[in-house]
Amino acid sequence: MEESGLPTYDSWNNLAANIAMVCWAVGLLIVLGYFLKLLTTSDSKTKFDFINKYEIKLLWIAGLIIVIGACFFANANIIELNPLWIFVRVFTTVSMGMIVALIIQNLLKFYYPFFIEKRLKVLRYKPRISPKTGKPMKLLSEEEEDAYLDEGMQAEENLFSMDYDVWKDDETGYIKIEKYSGHLHAIQCPECNYQTFKVVREEILREPTATEEGEIAKHYLCSYCGHKARKVVGLKASNKFHEESHAATA
Ligand SMILES: [Zn+2]
Repeated sequence: MEESGLPTYDSWNNLAANIAMVCWAVGLLIVLGYFLKLLTTSDSKTKFDFINKYEIKLLWIAGLIIVIGACFFANANIIELNPLWIFVRVFTTVSMGMIVALIIQNLLKFYYPFFIEKRLKVLRYKPRISPKTGKPMKLLSEEEEDAYLDEGMQAEENLFSMDYDVWKDDETGYIKIEKYSGHLHAIQCPECNYQTFKVVREEILREPTATEEGEIAKHYLCSYCGHKARKVVGLKASNKFHEESHAATA
């Protein structure tokens, strides 16, 4: 920059515009890469886990990078600059960027799960194809599936909010067992109605014996409004339906 005459900020403006383009390209590539990976995954269970694990995280990261790009882009047209202008620009850019990022974060945290949940349900109950016959298999009921789950799996279903789905090919007897974590699945909060009500802790109140049913307490917490609830559920071989209806009507 020259001491005399008006300084120009072309080099900064070019740099800011280039950073913005790179940010936008990276953000879009993350989203595209994610959906490409999803499109090329054919197994429903693999898809289910992939969406569950990465979709919100990746959309958040991509959103953040795109917002940062927009912040640079908004400052790629500087013709005049002095300490006051620098302060105003930095302040406005940072606060606008943070507001937009916060909106994106809230959308992903509180509204987007409804959309994800719907798609996950479709994936979970989409008939699995038997690799033996190429025909759709049958999803066994809670009672039927117990015959195919070992003791460890049944204990997990009871204690750790795990769900096992058992798919059976009636013709050949081929069995496919899929594990779902109940902890990852938030249900609708009875207070705020967001899909943000989750089991955070479980404690066994009474161990089940051969003759008597045990008891387990499940602690729910809403990550949005902080609503808490404690539900006591019977602890026996198969109590999933029981438990779900309890939680839904809480
Ligand atoms: Zn709530």
